[in-house]
Amino acid sequence: MSKCKFEDLIDGYLLNKLSEGDREAFEEHYFNCSSCFEQLQERDVIIRTIKNNPALLEEKEEVRSSALAGLRKELASFLTVRQLAFAGVTALLVMVIIFTVIPRHQVPAPNFFLTDEETVRGSSITLISPVIDMGQVPSSFEWKKLGDNIEYQISISNGELLWKATTRENRITLPDEVKAKMVPGQKYSWQVKAFGPDGSLIAVSSRVQFKISAD
Ligand SMILES: [Zn+2]
Repeated sequence: MSKCKFEDLIDGYLLNKLSEGDREAFEEHYFNCSSCFEQLQERDVIIRTIKNNPALLEEKEEVRSSALAGLRKELASFLTVRQLAFAGVTALLVMVIIFTVIPRHQVPAPNFFLTDEETVRGSSITLISPVIDMGQVPSSFEWKKLGDNIEYQISISNGELLWKATTRENRITLPDEVKAKMVPGQKYSWQVKAFGPDGSLIAVSSRVQFKISAD
């Protein structure tokens, strides 16, 4: 399998180190690249597990190694052996990055076990409307609610990004200036991403296409 050129951006994306342009290009890309999407999910879990486990950040070597053993066990439950070997290398790299870029005071409260929120990880958002061809420009977009305290980011594109907005509701009204840009006969696609209270990506929808029929 040849390496995707976006792969190098994954860790930077998860650690919030990318420029605005790189970040948007990567977000646009990884939903359509199963390789990047899979790796993003895996590395996100690794990074968050490490960040949520302050024992890993303590000076004492024995504490660190026993915590690592626990982490390894935790990871083994959802990674295959081959993935684990890869993840081990990645985790070490990630730890090096974390030790150098994340100041101690930003480490969240102790929370080693996966939380309820994290079981949501990797799940999908169901788009409700529009999902079929429309007789006219849709005036609102609606999707299935995922839970409380979640911020949704919607993007509409026709090859390139037409509009992007965030909301805490599970529906959004299309502004008139965006409606004005959408024309009959054209195909559009839309997608919703969900972000948790700490700003981390917790779910994405598939990118759904609809066409505004010309009459
Ligand atoms: Zn890719």
